[in-house]
Amino acid sequence: MVTAVVGANWGDEGKGKITDMLAQKADIIVRFQGGANAGHTIVNKYGKFALHTLPSGIFYGHTTSVIGNGVALNVPVLFRELKEITEKGVPMPKILISDRAQMVMSYHILLDRCEEERLAGRSFGSTQSGIAPFYSDKYAKIGIQVSELSDRKALEEKVRNICTLKNVMLTGLYGKEPLNPDKIMEELETYREMLEPYAADTAVFLENAIRDGKNILLEGQLGTMKDPDHGIYPMVTSSSTLAAFGAVGAGIPPYEIKKIVAVTKAYSSAVGAGEFVSEIFGEEADELRRRGGDGGEYGATTGRPRRMGWYDAVASRYGCRLQGATDVALTVLDVLGYLEKIPVCVAYEIDGKITTEFPTTTLLKKAKPVYEILPGWKSDIRGIRRYEDLPENCRRYIAFIEEKIGYPVTMISNGPGRDDIIYR
Ligand code: GDP
Repeated sequence: MVTAVVGANWGDEGKGKITDMLAQKADIIVRFQGGANAGHTIVNKYGKFALHTLPSGIFYGHTTSVIGNGVALNVPVLFRELKEITEKGVPMPKILISDRAQMVMSYHILLDRCEEERLAGRSFGSTQSGIAPFYSDKYAKIGIQVSELSDRKALEEKVRNICTLKNVMLTGLYGKEPLNPDKIMEELETYREMLEPYAADTAVFLENAIRDGKNILLEGQLGTMKDPDHGIYPMVTSSSTLAAFGAVGAGIPPYEIKKIVAVTKAYSSAVGAGEFVSEIFGEEADELRRRGGDGGEYGATTGRPRRMGWYDAVASRYGCRLQGATDVALTVLDVLGYLEKIPVCVAYEIDGKITTEFPTTTLLKKAKPVYEILPGWKSDIRGIRRYEDLPENCRRYIAFIEEKIGYPVTMISNGPGRDDIIYR
């Protein structure tokens, strides 16, 4: 059976923890989109890890990790992460990399940096991992697939063409040194050597696994609000963050995805610029940021302080709907234990009208949050394992969110650890 674990919000909902937890019973974990621009934080017996490219679940000896064709494959980062985990005592994981995956090249990262520099204050807040230039090239059909590494002659011709194009921009617009095709070929040769043991037709591997009744997890990055079509465009990422894209990015039939776990955090956070209706500021935000997540709400990749806000039921209902949630995992609920009163954004006011539908970015810019205030539970709920044992006001908060978003909250996460979970 195939299960997707995806974000219903802006990312950083705690997908890594949920995937890691579900991975205990999984045979295969697949990354299907995104690149090294976002990270998952996982806490387990080996320590605390911020993974950017490796799927969560690489910590289990029994799973195979697949880097699907939809991923922006950053080869040096992948190998750095492998080295880091094995040095900390994690057994070398079984990894397969799709021969249809494309590689993030050094010039993608360079161009990403140059563009952020040029835009200065008006930038998209890119993590400068080369993701936007990478996906632009992929769809402009000048990207490089892993499979192409075996045909040196054809590759050389392609690389010369890429350099011709990129150098106009690099020298003309950004005033930088031109790319040297021989250097790019050397870079590709290194990648070829590194990838050779892992490259495979992963779609065939997954087809066989599905036929054999294996448990497969698709692990999404970021969340609905960062989807290029359905998110807060243009402050989005460059590949689809939706479970539906899991079929494309893994190379499996869409009807095989039977379960879709949409992960939503008990309060909101976002990184980078973009519309964020229930955002809070000042001391109120600082306190939530300090107490949030596991050791504060700071970016796993960048260390940037995250923007904070109250739970947004409008965005989350939309987020779950676009994901096609069969299950909702409500995470980081323990963090809210310090609050006397907890506001929840239940509607938006746009031009004097109240709506519960999440609008396009143009309208979203004008949206003001409408809050309902719920009573806090003023206690530490970590360690609780049964729903009935949660304080009444805490259960009321969960039931309220469930009602507002309209999808079943079947898992509640009350701590960063693998076992900090309440099934409902
Ligand atoms: P992801 O990208 O969606 O996996 O999100 P992050 O890596 O930002 O994870 C959120 C952070 O919260 C990580 O530091 C997790 O260890 C932590 N975390 C996950 N679930 C919980 C939870 O239920 N309670 C607390 N306190 N922390 C959690």
